[in-house]
Amino acid sequence: MLTAATRSDGPTPRFRRGLRGRLVDLGGLVLPVSCPGCGAYDEIVCPQCLALLDGPPSRCEAAAGRLDRMDGRPPLPVWTLAPYTGPLRELVVAWKDRGRADVGRRFEAALDRGVRDLVPALRAGTTTEALLVVPAPSSAAARRRRGDDVVGRLARATAQACSTEGLPAVARPVLVRRGPGRDQVGLGARARSRNLAGHVVVRRTSASSISGRTVLLLDDVLTTGATLAACEQALMRAGAVVIAALTIAATPSPGRSAGRVEVGADPV
Ligand SMILES: [Zn+2]
Repeated sequence: MLTAATRSDGPTPRFRRGLRGRLVDLGGLVLPVSCPGCGAYDEIVCPQCLALLDGPPSRCEAAAGRLDRMDGRPPLPVWTLAPYTGPLRELVVAWKDRGRADVGRRFEAALDRGVRDLVPALRAGTTTEALLVVPAPSSAAARRRRGDDVVGRLARATAQACSTEGLPAVARPVLVRRGPGRDQVGLGARARSRNLAGHVVVRRTSASSISGRTVLLLDDVLTTGATLAACEQALMRAGAVVIAALTIAATPSPGRSAGRVEVGADPV
């Protein structure tokens, strides 16, 4: 049996992540750093891998079958910065699962650039109240493993970029994962939908404040669309209007392993 004397919780994931981030910020003086995309030494993200995020954002919802509303209405418009392939996939894994918060800051900067192209389209669908930028919620297990709400940081960067471009926006983490839903990593399309069904909900304390508000959903990677579909349904039930979603990367359509993702024809 563990006692207070024998139990050792050790540093929390948040502490470890923060410590590594500070060490990396010393410019690689303490820990050697390399680009997770290609292994280039002494680069957080090398210029070639960073260029993959240069955009402009493109539409990608056509490749995500779970966004099909099955009622004749077009799927939720989803914008993305790049295809989820090759070095970019390695960057995302390093950021989310290997504690590379420094890579996340590069993603935040890329969103800041990409959002500038989207503001005119987003403004057309936004009411006079500030646009809500809502991050897709992570499972409690994923948050514990990462020690941080990594998608929430992207949402805050996106809201700041919108506001800087003259579209008032605020990031609000109003969605939460409840119940037995597990981390989505490694699940197929049907399993992802089952895993999320009914488990993405609006926080009780937020429900009254989002009715009638326009929302931009924010997630890291679009794969099947199951996560964004569950988020949109939860927000709609609370009376919010989801006008679009934005992701860092999207799985390319079948048969398109590289290059730009599909570009939708319809405006937001
Ligand atoms: Zn690289």
